[in-house]
Amino acid sequence: MELTNKGYTIGDVNLLQVTKEFGAPVYVYDADQIVANYHELKDAFKGVDVHLKYACKALTNISVLKLLKKEGAGLDTVSIQEARLGLQAGFSASEILFTPNSIGFDEIKQAVDLGLVINIDELNLLERFGNEYGNKVPCCIRLNPHIMAGGNSHISVGHIDSKFGISIYQVPHIKRIVENYSIKVNGLHMHTGSDILDADVFLKGAKLLYEAANSFPDLEFMDFGSGFKVKYREGDVVADVNKIGKKIVASFKAFCKDYGKNLQLWFEPGKYLVSNAGFLLVETNIVKQTTSTVFAGVNSGQNHLLRPMMYDAYHHIVNVSNPKGMERIYSVVGYICESDTFGYDRRLNEVRVGDVLAICNAGAYGFSMSSNYNSRFRPAEVMIYKGKAHLIRKREDLNYLMQNQIEIELS
Ligand SMILES: *Cc1c(COP(=O)(O)O)cnc(C)c1O
Repeated sequence: MELTNKGYTIGDVNLLQVTKEFGAPVYVYDADQIVANYHELKDAFKGVDVHLKYACKALTNISVLKLLKKEGAGLDTVSIQEARLGLQAGFSASEILFTPNSIGFDEIKQAVDLGLVINIDELNLLERFGNEYGNKVPCCIRLNPHIMAGGNSHISVGHIDSKFGISIYQVPHIKRIVENYSIKVNGLHMHTGSDILDADVFLKGAKLLYEAANSFPDLEFMDFGSGFKVKYREGDVVADVNKIGKKIVASFKAFCKDYGKNLQLWFEPGKYLVSNAGFLLVETNIVKQTTSTVFAGVNSGQNHLLRPMMYDAYHHIVNVSNPKGMERIYSVVGYICESDTFGYDRRLNEVRVGDVLAICNAGAYGFSMSSNYNSRFRPAEVMIYKGKAHLIRKREDLNYLMQNQIEIELS
């Protein structure tokens, strides 16, 4: 999004025009930005056979999936439903990694039947997998290296008490199961969480995976997960992917030499590919002065963008309708019957009733975490692609809310 003499635009499309055409609230995605993010990250790991598996739980709209498929990405999926969406978007099964947690064996069977790349994160499941498939179906193993990533326990998933992965200390047990059932382990995986700033976190985990690799002779890839920290506000320190890339490429090359085979290097970026490409455009319903602040109340809320309430996440907000207005201080709040707040004490160009505000970094974990709380409809989604705004999801309506409900006769 940039401010030009035509107002706020994405790829020459005026954002006020988008709300006129498609209404508000509306999620808007910048396809060029997604493509640029993809190539920036991929290029950072030049020198090894790197593959990016888009962690599609961040944003699963089928047009976004197709866009990334076109650029050459694979997919990381955490449910059989995400995998099916991926197939629908044109990914072949072998390009889709299946990395679920706390699922039943039934779902693993479905994933095998679809031909997905299977990632196992629990010892009992591994044993069952071996029992069922022996050496006929390979699998990847999700290890937990017990590394604390990021500053927030909600988004850190690699620490000692995390529910994810098989402990790196249990490799001897994994090995026993693998050898007993002749399981072909084709990959080792770790994902330590979000908001990783520097190469050291990856390198610490990588070293542990390299050591573990000695126990598995059939590896074809190593998957270092994701968690690249992105910029949410001015002055945020962000992951320098080029610096991280150089260090990891060097260490991975050395590992491959030791291992005696050039493995593929996989990452599973979610946020990094789509966060800064998305904006939630909302309309101001009220401007309310209280004794201590001025509230700008908008026609959206935690039902559409949960991150501020769930993670205390900062999302930058911009008044798209009044770029030259005098700056004043506002608390931007939602219309849900909770104290749902998008941002406290924000300096915005003067906000008037009817003004359109853009909530930034809404591409990742925005729409995909939205709900119908308060029986509100979820927003439409629009993608700016080649200088044109395309509707990629219709706004919901009352029929949508009613479609699975069954009215019983009350006597
Ligand atoms: C959520 C998730 C990711 C993506 O994390 P980001 O912080 O969005 O990049 C990658 N891998 C797995 C297994 C995940 O669960």
